[in-house]
Amino acid sequence: MHILSKLKTTLQIALVSGAFVANAGAQTITVFACEPEWAALTHVLLPNANIHVATHAKQDPHHIEARPALIAQLRSADVAVCTGGELESAWLPMLQQRAGNSKVQNGAQGMFFASGQVEMIDPRPGVVGTPFSGDVHAEGNPHFHTDPHRFLKVAHALSKRFASLFPQEASAINQRTQAFSQMWSQQVQQWEKRAASLKGMRVASQHTTFAYLWRWLGIEQISDLEPKPGMAPTPAHLQRQLSLLQTTPVEAVVVAAYQDPRAAKWLTSQSGIQAPLLVLPATTENPLAADALVTWYEQLITSLVKVRAK
Ligand SMILES: [Zn+2]
Repeated sequence: MHILSKLKTTLQIALVSGAFVANAGAQTITVFACEPEWAALTHVLLPNANIHVATHAKQDPHHIEARPALIAQLRSADVAVCTGGELESAWLPMLQQRAGNSKVQNGAQGMFFASGQVEMIDPRPGVVGTPFSGDVHAEGNPHFHTDPHRFLKVAHALSKRFASLFPQEASAINQRTQAFSQMWSQQVQQWEKRAASLKGMRVASQHTTFAYLWRWLGIEQISDLEPKPGMAPTPAHLQRQLSLLQTTPVEAVVVAAYQDPRAAKWLTSQSGIQAPLLVLPATTENPLAADALVTWYEQLITSLVKVRAK
C-alpha cells in the first residue's frame, strides 16, 4: 500500500473510532439518586455515570420541593436509586408521575429502593400518616444508611441491579464491588475498635435519624426532642425532656445537620444540663468526592468519640 493511502486509512480508522467514542459518550449512563449516600455509592460502582442528586446534606430528605429541574433529571435517568421505606413518599411519587419515564416507575428494573434489601427496625404496623402527623415511617425506620453492615448489603444488591441493567459494564461493576466490599469491611472493623468506648453512652436526639448508628455503636437514645415521629419539638414536650435529662444526664444532645437546632440549643442552655449540642451530618456532604462515604462515617465516629472523651 502506498504510504499516503496507508496514512489515509489510519486517519479514517481514527475518525471512525473517534466517532465511536463520541457515540459511546452520548450513551453515558444517567443515574438519579434521591439521597447523597446513594449517589456516593453509585459513584463507586459506576464512576463514569452522570449522577444527579436530588437532596444534599443540609436538606431534610423527607421533604423537598418537586422542582422542575428535578423532574427533568428524573426524566433523563436510566436508573433511580432511592431509600424507599416511605422516606421520599412526600415528593418522589410526584416526580415519577411528572417525569413520565417508564424506566424509573415503581416495579421497573430501573427503580431501585434500598429499603427492599434490608430489614428495617421499629415498624409501626397499622399507623397511617397524615399531613399533620409527621414522618411516621409505618414500614420501619428508613434511616438505615448509618448502619455500615446494612449499607454493605445495599451495595451488593445495587451492584447486581446495575450489572443486570448494564451488562456491558458487568465485569467492571463486579470488580469495583469486590474492592469496595473489602475496603468497607476493613473500615468497619477499625471503626468498631475506635468506637468501643462509646458503648453505654447516653444521648438525646431529634427524630430517629441516627437510630441505626446508636444501635451499631451501643449508644442509647433516652430522649427524642420530637413529641411524635416527624413532628417539630413543642414547648411542653421540651419541658418534659428537660426534667428527664436533669435526672438522667446525657453526654450529648444530637441533631442532624439538616434539622433546626433551636430546640436542642435551648435544651443544652438550661441549668443542670451539662451536655453539649452535637450537630452530625446525616449523610455525606460531598457525594462525588473520592472516599465520600468513609469520610462521612469518620466524621460521625470522630465527633462522638471526642464528646465522650471530655
Ligand atoms: Zn425519618
